[in-house]
Amino acid sequence: MGFNLALSSPSGAGKTTITKKLSQKYPNIKVSISHTTRKPRSNEIDGVDYYFVSKNDFEDLITKNHFYEHAQIFDNYYGTSKEFVKKLHEKKFDVVFDIDWQGTKKLSSYKELNLIKIFILPPNKDELKKRLINRNQDNLKIVEKRLMQYESDIQHWFDYDYIVINNDLESCFGQIEKIIKNHKKEKMSFI
Ligand code: 5GP
Repeated sequence: MGFNLALSSPSGAGKTTITKKLSQKYPNIKVSISHTTRKPRSNEIDGVDYYFVSKNDFEDLITKNHFYEHAQIFDNYYGTSKEFVKKLHEKKFDVVFDIDWQGTKKLSSYKELNLIKIFILPPNKDELKKRLINRNQDNLKIVEKRLMQYESDIQHWFDYDYIVINNDLESCFGQIEKIIKNHKKEKMSFI
């Protein structure tokens, strides 16, 4: 198995962009596609960004032990599918999880995943507000809700191995690449 990387951040800090950039630049890195009960945004595609399912179907999957972890975030369920991730591992892919702090905590209890945990932070709250408004995906009420969530999300930084500030996308991305490369090197030295 390669590596498993959890990338978390308060909503709007750039994590989804970075996750996608990683999988585009490195063919061996795949993103774990989560299930969610959230409604798709206008630019999202079922089976690409998420598996969009009903609340009933999600609850049914919980009872069938389908998830490594699941959490309720902003009134919706999100969950990491065991089956999906295991298939990626069978094909020897490295896996990136774009999940929140609850999911990261749960996932790191699976020791065999040997999870690397990175927390991405925006430079400050004002900048985060600007980014949330500019990305124009959610209405203002949802933006306010996400900003309120920011304060409680950042309390969980200490559960992570690395904190990276997303002041500038390219340099943030470069730091994450460096972390991954160092982990790969460390692994090689044990072989
Ligand atoms: P969004 O609705 O903006 O796509 O995601 C909201 C939050 O849910 C983000 O912090 C995202 O990382 C997190 N998330 C997405 N998928 C999962 C998952 O499978 N499990 C958990 N715990 N969080 C997830």
